[in-house]
Amino acid sequence: MSHEDFKVQLFRFIDVLPCLATEQMLNDHIQEYFAQHEKVPAVLRFGAKSAGIGGYLGMKVLAKTIRKNIENMALQFIIGNTIPQTVRNLSKLRQRGFAFTLDILGEATVNEKEADSYAENYMRLLEGLEQARSNWSALGTDNSTLDWGHSPKINISIKPSALYSQINPADFQGSVEHILDRLRPVYRKVIELNGFMCIDTEMRAYKEITIELYRRLRSDSEFKAYPHLGLAMQVCLKSGDRDIGLMLDWARQARLPISIRLVKGAYWDYEIAVARQNGWPIPVHTNKAETDASFERCAEKILRNHDYCHLACASHNVRSVCSVLELARLLEVPDDRYEFQVLYGMAEPFRNALLKMADRVRLYCPQGELLPGMAYLIRRLMENTSNESFLRQTYVEGCEPERLLRAPHLSISETAEKPAPERPERSESQSEFGAFSNEPLADFSLPEVRDAFAGAIAEVKKKLGRTYPLFIGGNEVTTDTLVDSMNPARPDEVIGRVWLAGTRQVEEAITAAQDAFQRWRDIPAHKRATYLIRAAEIARTRIFELAAWQVLEAGKQWRQAYNDVAEAIDFLEYYAREMVRLAHPRYIGHAPGEVNEYFYQPKGIGVVIAPWNFPLAISCGMCAAALVTGNCVLYKPSNQTPVVGYTLLQILQEAGLPPGVFNYIPGAGSVIGDFLIDHPQTSLIAFTGSMEVGLRIIERAARTSEGQPSVKKVIAEMGGKNAIIIDDDADLDEAIPQVIDSAFAYQGQKCSACSRVIVLDTIYARFVERLVDAARSVRIGPAEVPANFMGPVIDESAQKSILHHIEIARKEGSILYSSNVPGGGYYVPITIVEGITPEHRLAQEEVFGPVLAVMRAMDFDQAKVWANSTRFALTGSVFSRHPKHLEQCRKEFRVGSLYFNRGCTGAIVEKQPFGGFKMSGVGSKAGGPDYLLQFMDPRTVTENTMRRGFVPVRSEGKWIE
Ligand code: NAD
Repeated sequence: MSHEDFKVQLFRFIDVLPCLATEQMLNDHIQEYFAQHEKVPAVLRFGAKSAGIGGYLGMKVLAKTIRKNIENMALQFIIGNTIPQTVRNLSKLRQRGFAFTLDILGEATVNEKEADSYAENYMRLLEGLEQARSNWSALGTDNSTLDWGHSPKINISIKPSALYSQINPADFQGSVEHILDRLRPVYRKVIELNGFMCIDTEMRAYKEITIELYRRLRSDSEFKAYPHLGLAMQVCLKSGDRDIGLMLDWARQARLPISIRLVKGAYWDYEIAVARQNGWPIPVHTNKAETDASFERCAEKILRNHDYCHLACASHNVRSVCSVLELARLLEVPDDRYEFQVLYGMAEPFRNALLKMADRVRLYCPQGELLPGMAYLIRRLMENTSNESFLRQTYVEGCEPERLLRAPHLSISETAEKPAPERPERSESQSEFGAFSNEPLADFSLPEVRDAFAGAIAEVKKKLGRTYPLFIGGNEVTTDTLVDSMNPARPDEVIGRVWLAGTRQVEEAITAAQDAFQRWRDIPAHKRATYLIRAAEIARTRIFELAAWQVLEAGKQWRQAYNDVAEAIDFLEYYAREMVRLAHPRYIGHAPGEVNEYFYQPKGIGVVIAPWNFPLAISCGMCAAALVTGNCVLYKPSNQTPVVGYTLLQILQEAGLPPGVFNYIPGAGSVIGDFLIDHPQTSLIAFTGSMEVGLRIIERAARTSEGQPSVKKVIAEMGGKNAIIIDDDADLDEAIPQVIDSAFAYQGQKCSACSRVIVLDTIYARFVERLVDAARSVRIGPAEVPANFMGPVIDESAQKSILHHIEIARKEGSILYSSNVPGGGYYVPITIVEGITPEHRLAQEEVFGPVLAVMRAMDFDQAKVWANSTRFALTGSVFSRHPKHLEQCRKEFRVGSLYFNRGCTGAIVEKQPFGGFKMSGVGSKAGGPDYLLQFMDPRTVTENTMRRGFVPVRSEGKWIE
């Protein structure tokens, strides 16, 4: 298996296999995955060769054979499919002298029903083991009920994240409490059986939750006296040494003996990918030898504290295992204070040898359905084939023993590669400001981040109810209209009081902008860009506070609010660099004797009209683009979020923009909207909002009035009716949470939100059942409480409009689920409706709330047609493991931003430039390389350089080829 592509295809095939419900699907996938490869794996060989021939009967036989082959392969790594089979195989293992720990495999937990059934499965398994236990004689001793005289015969390993579908690092205490609710009964049963329970470790984001769970359970007055509770800890994390040290200190202080299973970690690739995507420091050692060295250090630390901590050394690395064996001997650690663990089905010669040397070897045995357990299998295969794997080096490549046994610290210095860059390097958008990189997102697994957020909300609450003036020509201005901006979760709580502009103030702002324009236009572009960079820095220092304002004024959840501010910073940083790139005059046409220069100038006075749903990011993006290109701006924030709008003014003011360049004029659309658009001095309108208002603006701006100096340019980003297609082979463990997030995060009030999910008939029942249960599992309440996934909608009129659409949904389809809502704020129920087809209003109109239409498509072609069957073309997504279907969608699913195997929201500046077409907007994508061009007019200057036959040659400078 040396060929990398082939390996990927094989793993992907095994991953999708459990979903291939029909023979035809199986056949198609084999064709698509392996047609290009000569080396077909033995388990599929019969399939790939005969796929497509032999008719229906042939296909049936083929499907059966392949499934059987893969199941047999899975049985090498999975101890049993059913409880009786598991017990039988465990008995065989025990006869051979091995102890076990059992881990139940299954689908990811995407709703609370599944979390309940995960816990119930453990209860059932424990009951099955209870019956078998009496037939098992203790290992390594004749006169004890315990293996080796000290260790419970029954031993389980359990994954905390599977016990609570809403696990969320931002809701640290809530997550711990909910997991404990399901974990306690399981542990009680374990104790009743005199067993052992190990809390497994998973991704780093859950590490602190897992450690807290262990501490809470271990020190619980009900369980304190029972010592058989273990915790798995990973040393591939750079924090490994520290984590272990803190655990040991805790145990000693609490006077509670503990048990640690020391592992290197199974999430190495995942952690690196997640860190890079979020702009976080890489949390794992990027050099395998570092992990090995950390393993030895941590093992030593535990062995030296053996009076308080039992060690389960879980490694297949001969060097790691030998070092533990030797050290334990040297430190005279009693036998009952350490043991060895290896994975069931892996490296059998090694485990047999280990048993001879160490006596106490426990096998980590996954248990459960074979095909759905494939995800687990794949991880094992990855370990087997990854280049760094000890197993691979030992068994596949036959590395010489000296190299395999070398002390890891020697290998570190020898193999020390350049560490993986903390952020990916980029070459484009380079300028004097350095390469662009996205603002890191909040890592809520860190207590300091959670504390900072909660602290910022508390601080902002102290500032509620203040009064905010207009800002025109560098001066604060008040008017005779003062309105209150309210908290949508508590409509009687005033966030701020804002003076509103009338037409007189708009006129003043236009005059101020005109006065400032010439100077602003003519300062060098890089200097204008410097204001943006400075503004980004100011926003960065206020990031938690800026997010907290959004939580209270717009009802955004912590993560959503933080991401909005991070996006605002991205716009500032990105457009600054883009302007520097575009500001260089370029030369065009290589004809001798003339020089053609190509460059841009700003349009003049720009009006920016912003929505409330990304109250800082979208406002900031449109204003930053207009400003950096040399226009002067009149900024009208949304009436629902004027205080967040004011924070943009503060940032730009502090960055030092000259007076008149940026003017803040909140006002009612009905009062100043037309006046702003119609004004003859307005040359540019950047609008983001609804289709109705956008079209009205486009129409009005097209009329020219007396004395108007230029044709108005309108950039309008408007609504969406976005669809996600769920193909018949979609990974529902991924698709369900992503659909929930795309449809209901921030109450479905994103232009990119999913409001139609188009599901293929063959997978419909399973998808809908899991989806509804997932929707049932989310919490609704004020956004300031991080446990709440969904909050209130923006105001009363939005609430009324959404409720009206829910009534329409009742008439057009049948309601699958409608949640309860808390009292007080502007809440609406999460609503899922089925039976919707393209002619229904629910399939055509933007609802802008948590209302999801489920559409059942007979086949993939129909799904594609339906996906395109609206006036909008903003975002879309496809969950499919059919390479052919993805390829078709690339061409035929016509939306501005299309995503495969992920949700349809959450575009990131530069990586996913954002914007649609058809009735979703006119304009180039925000956060992309063409965006700034819309705010400027291109000019050319041609100079005849030939003088009486003398033709100078120009070659330097930038050229447009
Ligand atoms: P909206 O159209 O009601 O308001 C947008 C802005 O226009 C507000 O500032 C509002 O005061 C102003 N406005 C209202 N009437 C006006 C008039 N006659 N003249 C000038 N300005 C007027 O939209 P909203 O409720 O704030 O935002 C939600 C809408 O925005 C949704 O339709 C959503 O899809 C869309 N949206 C689109 C994008 C995108 O990038 N395509 C992004 C965010 C929001």
